Parts: sequence; structure tokens; C-alpha cells
Amino acid sequence: MLSEPTPIPESDHARQWRARDLAVLWHPCTQMREHLSETLPLVPIARGDGAWLVGQDGRRYLDAVSSWWTNLFGHAEPRIAAAIARQAGTLEQVILAGFGHPPAIELAERLLAVAPRQAGRAPLAKVFYADNGSAGVEVALKMAFHWFHNRGEPRRTRFIALENGYHGETLGALAVGDIPLYRQVYAPLMGQALFAPSPDAYLAAAGETAEQRALRAADALADLLDRHAGEVCALILEPLLQCAGGMRMHHPVYLRRARELCDAHGVFLIADEIATGFGRTGSLFACEQAGVMPDLMCVSKGLTGGFLPLAAVLATQSIYDAFLDDSRERAFLHSHSYTGNPLACAAALASLSIFAEDDVIANNRERAATMARLAEPLRAHPHMADLRQTGMVLAFELTRGGDKATPFPAAAQVGLKAYRAALQRGVVLRPLGNVLYWMPPYCIDDEQLQLLAEVTRAAIDEACACA
Ligand SMILES: *Cc1c(COP(=O)(O)O)cnc(C)c1O
Repeated sequence: MLSEPTPIPESDHARQWRARDLAVLWHPCTQMREHLSETLPLVPIARGDGAWLVGQDGRRYLDAVSSWWTNLFGHAEPRIAAAIARQAGTLEQVILAGFGHPPAIELAERLLAVAPRQAGRAPLAKVFYADNGSAGVEVALKMAFHWFHNRGEPRRTRFIALENGYHGETLGALAVGDIPLYRQVYAPLMGQALFAPSPDAYLAAAGETAEQRALRAADALADLLDRHAGEVCALILEPLLQCAGGMRMHHPVYLRRARELCDAHGVFLIADEIATGFGRTGSLFACEQAGVMPDLMCVSKGLTGGFLPLAAVLATQSIYDAFLDDSRERAFLHSHSYTGNPLACAAALASLSIFAEDDVIANNRERAATMARLAEPLRAHPHMADLRQTGMVLAFELTRGGDKATPFPAAAQVGLKAYRAALQRGVVLRPLGNVLYWMPPYCIDDEQLQLLAEVTRAAIDEACACA
């Protein structure tokens, strides 16, 4: 019944909004021609309601990707909306150089209180704000380099990143990313990062466990660090889950080994928790599941519950201390106009309160179990190469015949077809290549998950049918 899309005639109202949109907007991460030629429908949204997005024509779309992984508790969550409104009537913005304000202070206190800890290590102690994830990554990279510079080791200019990793789109962040589609054109503009093999369990050899795969990747990291001793200032990685790289997951033992190797080589460990943070992976931060504390941790996306752009970089006291001096040159002079915006900080504070009020992490465990149960029947789908889950993120990797050795070629456009098929059925899935995934708002209920599972099956069937 659900496998047949219901053709709802588009209203004039929605058509007009679409025309106005296409007349003036250049959309992110989009080949605009697909919209102009109507290969892909562009969907103007009027409002959000929990896990639903509501189009200008009144059609409802289940937001199974949490609006680019930002939304935590549903759209227009009233407690966060109210906190922003209250703050807007008090202090909307103030320069954060030379000035502070209660939301920025309180948010820093609370982030540091819940940040990952590790026995025997001094905890993360300072918060530097930025206004989006990529900017937060730039901050962490610059801090790592500048720390060594201040300590008299200016030749430590290189970063190690993981193959298939993603850290954002600005040139510095892109340089430590390894997704050719986003990176390749700009390669001539970028610094040369070193890439270590990904611990990705999907890449395990036949008969190899996820843990063995992770340990093998850690050995390769050890080699790389040995070969470039004295040149490297930091390792940056997405803990447990490479999101943009196709929701690829790895065993936590990798993080423990990476932590030890960074310590042995005197190199910083930067955890990019921009997508994994705030409960996505089953714990508040992914690093917790490995018992590892990074030296620098970047958070953004879910930080404000998905309401406003904000990023924070958490650093150790020892990193901070190396910038204290009589000279301004040794200071960290990075800034963004909206650094620590009070409205965004107020949203983040309200979001953190919801974690406690609603016992979110415990409830997510139960949500994640329901997701697993509903997805399980799809494991037997003839084109399913892998079905994997880490907490509130569940991914389906499709290949021809379900064999890892025969991926669908890009020209088969499996992801695009699945996207379109799901959208017609009122669900927003936005596949990454041939990987479909669920990363829903935490408020998604059983009925909505049921719909999601049914539509996912229909979308996979339709996308693979003629691929
Ligand atoms: C999204 C993302 C970023 C970039 O954040 P933006 O706010 O989009 O700039 C960086 N790192 C990871 C892991 C991400 O998923």
C-alpha cells in the first residue's frame, strides 16, 4: 500500500514559491541544473513540526536526516524557541573580544562539565567559540599549529587526517578532508595533509573483524607518525563514525590506539564531534565509548539543538597556557563577527537542559533498538552489502547483488533515485552515494519509524530496480 507514491497535485502557491526560489537562490551542495530541469523537485518548506517538515503546499515530509544532522529534538521545539525569544529581548549580540555575557559563560561551563574525560589526563578546560563547524575545525587546526610555534617548533606544519574523512568546506578544513567529490577541484589551493588509512569496518578483509581492521589501521597510523616525526602537529578524526564519507563506522579500539600514538609522538588529537556529538552515537560524545579524551574537541551542528549556527572548540589548559604572553603575536588572534552569539548560546543551553529533563540518552537507547528491529528485515535485500548502526545512526550500503566487490557505478544514480522515491512518499532521505541512512530527530516515534522503514524499502526497490 505504501509502496505506491500518492500523487498529490502541487498547488499554485507551492509552484510560485519554487519559481521565486529558483530565480534568486543558489543552493548549497547542489547541481542547480537538476532543479532547473526538474530532474529533482525543489521543495519550499513553510514550517517544521517535530520530526515533520511541512511544505508550502501542506505536504508533510518526515525529516529522517535531521536537516543535515543538526536537529535533535524536532523542529520548532518550544523550549528552545522560548529560550531564544527570551534572549533576543535581553541581549542579541555583543563583541566577544573584551566583553563576555552570561549565556557564553554558562554554556562554556556546562560544555566543559559534560566533555569526555580520561583517567590520568587534565580535563578540557577552555572553550573557544566559532559560528559554524568548518570554522571550528579551522580554529582547532590553527591552535594546534600555533601551540608548537609558540613552543619553538614552527616546523610542525602538517596534519594527519583519515582517508574518507570529512571536516567541512572552508579551505583549511577541506584540506584535511578526503572526499574527492568535494575536494578535488580545489586541491591546487590547499595545504598538503597526510592521510592515514581509515579504520572503517566496511573495509575489513574477508574473515577480519572490525576490531582487527581498526588495529591494522592503527598500525598504519603508527608508521605514518614514525615517518613524519617532528613534522606533524595534530591528528584530526571523526570518532566512531565517518558521516559524510558514507556513514562508515569503526571499532573504538582505534581511538584508544590513536590516543596512545599521539601521546607517544607528542602530537595533538583533535576530535571532530561536529556530527557525532550530542547523543547521535549513543553517548553524549562518541569519544566516551572509547574512554578517550582529545586535546581539542570541535562541536557544532546539534550544539544548539539545530536552531542556530554555533561551534565550540574545547581545549586543554596546557594548550591555552602556551598562548599567554606579553606579546600579542603569541595570542590566538582568530575571530568571527558572531563568535559566541548570545542567541545561539541560549539555544545551546536550552538544548543541554533538555538532555537532562527528558533523559535523552537513555530514551535514545530504546529508540535505537526500535530502529535496529525495523531495519533488520532489509538486511536480506538482494542489493544490501551492509547494514550498520551506531546509536541513532543507521546505514544501508547498496551494491549490485549485495557484493562489496561490485558497487553500483555513479552513473546508475542509485542515491538520487532513492532520494526522489522517498520524497514522493513523504520522507526526506538524502543518500550519500549508494548509502541510505537514518539519522532522525530523537523525538521520532514508533509510527514514524515504521513509515520510515516502509518507505526506505520502497525507495531501495525503486532505486535498484533499473540500476
Ligand atoms: C558538517 C561537518 C563539518 C562542517 O560543519 P559546517 O557547519 O557544515 O561547516 C565538519 N565536520 C564534520 C564531521 C561534519 O559532519
